[in-house]
Amino acid sequence: MNTETAARRHLRYAIIGAGMSGILAAIKLRERDDADFVVYEKAAELGGTWRDNRYPGLTCDTPSHAYSYSFALNPDWSKYYADGAEIKAYFTRVATEFGVVPHIRFNSEVVSCRFDDANKVWRLGLVNGEQSEADVVIVASGVLHHPSVPELPGLSSFRGKAFHSARWDDSAKLDDTRVGVIGCGSTGTQIINALSQRAARLIHFQRSPQWIMPVPQFAYSAEERAAFRKNPALMEAIRNDPQYWSNIYRFADGLTDFNSPQMAEIHAICQRNLEESVSDPVLREKLRPNYPAACKRLIYSWEYYQCVQRPAVYVETGGIQGIEAEGVRMKDGTLHSLDVLILATGFKADQFVRPTLVTGRNGIALDDFWSVRPTAHYAVTMPGFPNFFMLNGPGSPVGNFPLIDIAERQWVYIEKLLEPIRQRSARVVEPTPAAYQSYEARRIAAARKTIFGAGCTNWYLDKTGVPATWPWGYQAFSDAMAAPVSGEFEFTS
Ligand code: NAP
Repeated sequence: MNTETAARRHLRYAIIGAGMSGILAAIKLRERDDADFVVYEKAAELGGTWRDNRYPGLTCDTPSHAYSYSFALNPDWSKYYADGAEIKAYFTRVATEFGVVPHIRFNSEVVSCRFDDANKVWRLGLVNGEQSEADVVIVASGVLHHPSVPELPGLSSFRGKAFHSARWDDSAKLDDTRVGVIGCGSTGTQIINALSQRAARLIHFQRSPQWIMPVPQFAYSAEERAAFRKNPALMEAIRNDPQYWSNIYRFADGLTDFNSPQMAEIHAICQRNLEESVSDPVLREKLRPNYPAACKRLIYSWEYYQCVQRPAVYVETGGIQGIEAEGVRMKDGTLHSLDVLILATGFKADQFVRPTLVTGRNGIALDDFWSVRPTAHYAVTMPGFPNFFMLNGPGSPVGNFPLIDIAERQWVYIEKLLEPIRQRSARVVEPTPAAYQSYEARRIAAARKTIFGAGCTNWYLDKTGVPATWPWGYQAFSDAMAAPVSGEFEFTS
């Protein structure tokens, strides 16, 4: 350790979660020689969403070379859009190669996290009763982590296998059986795609149809992968594809105003996709949403319309009366007899780090701070919660954006906030209440005008109906993350 390093404050970090964001934080901390960190992971494996979700057809809708850490490009991606198992293998390999795995404490759920004001440290309680201490907490516990299981009358009486898409039951037989899928978000549609030629009968229970954005999918040949390995600039070229980023920026700019020409263009593309892809007029009308495209998160698919028209598939648009031993009873009396019922019914998107009991300065409970909605200053910090940072936290950009890029940018922001603490000019940092309140008022006003607030139901909306999202463009997000506004923060010794 050189003199300069020795003079810097030694900080102990607790990272909560060993998914994409937690692994990122761990790699970035490991690059420093003044960091002392533990990654607390409640499960026995790393991978976050890619560990929990392993349903047939699981695919990421960010191109694989863009859904990679900027410092760990992967020449071996097999396809333009990689599948879930391949992505989980990527995170496992990167975490191993970057030396993160020995820092992970598996099966170690953090159940409480309390700021000790007198000593300016965070005290963590683990599920096994152990206590631990950290100067800095990095929350990387994911956004869509807690399954939302609807209260369907009679569900427990079903004689077949019924389970949520993120709690896949490997013992369920899917080939040549009768399968029902409730939900037609990204998950439900991908499951339909995968099972449309496996199940004998596949019922897609659709409460609201979704707009489908057509995208290409293709495999990388062995020659292409060899070329990527030899010349990483080829991967950078795909990753930084101007067309891809121009679409991201245009989409992000457009969604800030639901009357924008970009949103009209996206709507027109989705509408044309429906008209041109679905031949049966009855099915076409069943699949036609009555809200603007991208109000619910856009589904990117190269195959859903093709798969849903296969002979085994039936789209049921009636209301569900309840579940019986034999299957799903509709309000009109129809019974769909099933062997397997898959609940692709989404997630409780307002939980974030909860149910961990987080208590900030002066005993303030996170549950109280978030009593109206989960919020954070620029999605990363909160007043009253010093040295507590979130990756992909509340109010981050969501909606068809590359979440790795978002986490990497948020990490840059966190590093900048930590620098004065490492330099011993302060011990803790948090946003001022005034800065946070002003930010949040602006965010709410802008969020109401986004496409997500255009009148549909979607998982972005908080319980007051305000989209819990970053409401400005992607450039505004990048700029904000590049330089925290120092006057908005309180540094305390
Ligand atoms: P979701 O988008 O929230 O969709 C849930 C679906 O379940 C909706 O169709 C909803 O209908 C339906 N539903 C919920 N309760 C119901 C009930 N009681 N009766 C009938 N239908 C019910 O959830 P998701 O598909 O799991 O996707 C969540 C998010 O995960 C995505 O938006 C995306 O961010 C992420 N994801 C991404 C990928 C990817 O390719 N990158 C893949 C999967 C998931 P309503 O619309 O009527 O509420």
